[in-house]
Amino acid sequence: MSSHRSAPGDSPLGTTPTIADRYAAVRARIDAAALAAGRDPEEVQLLVATKTQDAAAVRAVVAAGATLIGENRVQELVAKAPDLADLVAAGSVRVHMIGHLQRNKVNQVLATATGVESVDSLALAEALASRCAREGRTLDVMVQVNVSGEGSKAGVGPDGAAHLSRQVAALEGLRLTGFMTIGANSPDTALVRAGFERLRRIRDEVLASGAPGTGEARELSMGMSGDLEAAIAEGATIVRVGTAVFGARAVTAAVD
Ligand SMILES: *Cc1c(COP(=O)(O)O)cnc(C)c1O
Repeated sequence: MSSHRSAPGDSPLGTTPTIADRYAAVRARIDAAALAAGRDPEEVQLLVATKTQDAAAVRAVVAAGATLIGENRVQELVAKAPDLADLVAAGSVRVHMIGHLQRNKVNQVLATATGVESVDSLALAEALASRCAREGRTLDVMVQVNVSGEGSKAGVGPDGAAHLSRQVAALEGLRLTGFMTIGANSPDTALVRAGFERLRRIRDEVLASGAPGTGEARELSMGMSGDLEAAIAEGATIVRVGTAVFGARAVTAAVD
């Protein structure tokens, strides 16, 4: 999905769709995909990926109904935090870190994020956990799995995912809520969908393990603007959408 003229969410009479129009169109797409998969649309949350969007755009999408946003760079998360602090404090929006996180940035992330979806190593989990335990708080985390095996993507490999998840779940200060992945970058829908199925099977295995702390690891954060239907068909409970809400991030999107 892009800022193309025929994108769902276009207003009548050819006017430029607003963020609210696009947000509603994406939500309608999610609802339709859930119904097509025989699922209750309420089982699927929309996380709005706000990278490269300024605080005003983020506030606009929250006004349009968004209750969950995701940032993938610590620097951006920190830069926008003061302008969003009132919304977070009021509980109007939750903020998830969805990008690769280095251990030395843990403190900055914890100052703003209400959850971290990109836990991909025990070392990172331990750094988050020790800080949270010291502050007497519990952080919602997900284990990021690289289901496609593409070298450009972060995440633990599928074979090590269940083991890492049990280790993370056992840490005091963290609550393992589920699993996150970025789908294969491929036009082959079957391949993309097989990756999402893999994540679901990992989730089911970890949930069934009965290992300490794994009992709440139900979430599957998977699916983006281009592949959310496939993800929802495979059980996604959170889809992370940027482009379809805000328009393309490329320079061409600035033409208006
Ligand atoms: C940007 C981003 C998304 C959203 O991607 P779109 O294709 O713009 O919808 C989802 N997840 C992560 C981790 C991202 O960085």
